[in-house]
Amino acid sequence: MEENIIKLAEILNEYGKSHHYYLWHDFMQIMYVLKKVKTGYWAQTDDKKELEMIAPYVKSLGLYISFKHQGYITYNKSKYNSWNGPWFGVKRKNIGTFYLGYPHCCEAAYIQIGPFSNAHIYYILKQILVDRNIHAYKTLKQYIGDMVFLEEYTPCTLHCEESHKRAERFKNVFLEFKGLLPQNYLGQRRKEVIESMIKGISDIENPPIMEQFKKHSLPKLEKHHYKHLFKLEDEFYKEIESAMANPSATKEIVEKGKRLIEKI
Ligand SMILES: [Zn+2]
Repeated sequence: MEENIIKLAEILNEYGKSHHYYLWHDFMQIMYVLKKVKTGYWAQTDDKKELEMIAPYVKSLGLYISFKHQGYITYNKSKYNSWNGPWFGVKRKNIGTFYLGYPHCCEAAYIQIGPFSNAHIYYILKQILVDRNIHAYKTLKQYIGDMVFLEEYTPCTLHCEESHKRAERFKNVFLEFKGLLPQNYLGQRRKEVIESMIKGISDIENPPIMEQFKKHSLPKLEKHHYKHLFKLEDEFYKEIESAMANPSATKEIVEKGKRLIEKI
């Protein structure tokens, strides 16, 4: 293994231990970029120290690193130029797809609708817990497995095929470099995923949040274009309407769902 990659892993592992957990993710994010399974990595940290520490090693691997807009690493020179240039403001709306390589559907969900993956998780949980749908159980299990490797704002739904394919590509890169990561890396990532899912699913039993969802997101999701883009079944809309109309039944499913997610 190239010496500069080992050095990069050491720096980021050490840094991750003493800082916020998401920094543990950085080494793998940079490796995804190095292996070109991800277009670019947005550092999203105001802490320039981390970027300054890793810059010489990142550059030695043939990657470009920018300190602008919280920091960006890519293998693509024209994306790097655009990130640093006057067009960034225009492209900013497409950060996910243009600069980072996110699936189009996931960015559309985030920017145009407002993230609704929690509603979709609820829909899948209902299928598992009430309808005893084994296929839905497999979908949820796969989603959790993928989330360990994926980034924020993806997948848009549990049926997002592009995100699943990405997670598979990320996983292969992970297997190549896992010897350089902390031993509990996967366990820690899984814990983070489960915690954020449990926190997120609580939105479904929160009337003000669901009121907003009903008012702003649901009418858009009902449009043919989005229904098609996110591959939403008619049943999804019915379940969400019914969840809002029956708070006590919804609460029961959400609570059971949390216990199920913890056990998977
Ligand atoms: Zn998607």
